Amino acid sequence: MKVFLSGGSGFIAAHVLDILLEHGHTVITSVRSQEKADKIKEAHPNTPASQLEFRIVKDIAQEGAFDEAIKVDGLEAVIHTASPFHFNVTDVKKDLLDPAVIGTTGILKAIKKNAPSVKRVVITSSFASIINPNKGISWTEHTYSEKDWNPITEEEAVLNPSNGYRASKTFAEKAAWEFVEKEKPNFTLSTICPPLVIGPIVHYLNSLDSLNTSNQRTANLITGKNKSEIPETGTYIWTDVRDLALAHVKAIELPEAADKRFFVTAGYFSNKEIAEIIRKNFPALEKELPAKDVKGGDYPKEGLYKYDNSRTVDVLGIKFRSLEESVVDLVKSLQAVGV
Ligand code: NDP
Repeated sequence: MKVFLSGGSGFIAAHVLDILLEHGHTVITSVRSQEKADKIKEAHPNTPASQLEFRIVKDIAQEGAFDEAIKVDGLEAVIHTASPFHFNVTDVKKDLLDPAVIGTTGILKAIKKNAPSVKRVVITSSFASIINPNKGISWTEHTYSEKDWNPITEEEAVLNPSNGYRASKTFAEKAAWEFVEKEKPNFTLSTICPPLVIGPIVHYLNSLDSLNTSNQRTANLITGKNKSEIPETGTYIWTDVRDLALAHVKAIELPEAADKRFFVTAGYFSNKEIAEIIRKNFPALEKELPAKDVKGGDYPKEGLYKYDNSRTVDVLGIKFRSLEESVVDLVKSLQAVGV
């Protein structure tokens, strides 16, 4: 299949790219600069130029940003991952909401207008678009699934960066489903909703300074930043980046994935468990880690919400890696880039 992948330089997209190539697909990926395109190309020396092409899309928040990039003869599928995921923002609308929402509607409009051969579109959404933050993490009687939607409003969205990020994913995913309903394009849509994503980073794009947001907590643990207290975990459910990347690829390959949301989670985790996995597997890092009796990072005593990932298992056939495998491979990859 010929597949367009937006944001090929991202943590998750780098793994999607590798699985697409392994499955024999041809990939056209958008990045923000030629420098990033060159790094990705150099890291795939055995991939023929005809199987991996690049398009420069500098800012997905600009109307029409994908109009030219998406013009690819015989394009069959699109995976849209690009969206800001960080909390270092001064203007929630400009820095988070616009790139997420305009980026998503922009790529869908561009496909409809300029790539009529596309049959399948997959968008990376998030557990952020499923969770109801008003209920707290100890909503023990509730089981989250694809049926749930975050009720966040436009007013709440701009109150702080954390609300802003969750709203950006919720509004963007809603806009995508509305687009399909109203515009009735030639393609079907699937959305992929992961909670915290951890796992190995690719060496060719990363350093400690440019580390993606969701791996930051593990980097903090191994660089001595949590020696006196482990921070609260936050969402308490996670998935491995390689399992998530495979879910994206399966969602374009399997016809039965069309018209569905997928809640892709491996299960519960806590920051304390991550620390203990590192202690067990990397004795040389002991001096950087919080001591065993340091407070914080545990599960809440009141319990946690439940989750239902059965659609991801049944339809996409995903078998989830263990937290231990994911953390060990992440730490090794961080050490490989000098963290
Ligand atoms: P990264 O920060 O590694 O990737 C984000 C990607 O989006 C990068 O390629 C980035 O380009 C691109 N991007 C961001 N803003 C713009 C913009 N204005 N114009 C063009 N490109 C832009 O994060 P992840 O890989 O973790 O995130 C990928 C997707 O997964 C996002 O949609 C995110 O919301 C979602 N997600 C991530 C989770 C996680 O825990 N990691 C959990 C749930 C969902 P550049 O690198 O050049 O800045």
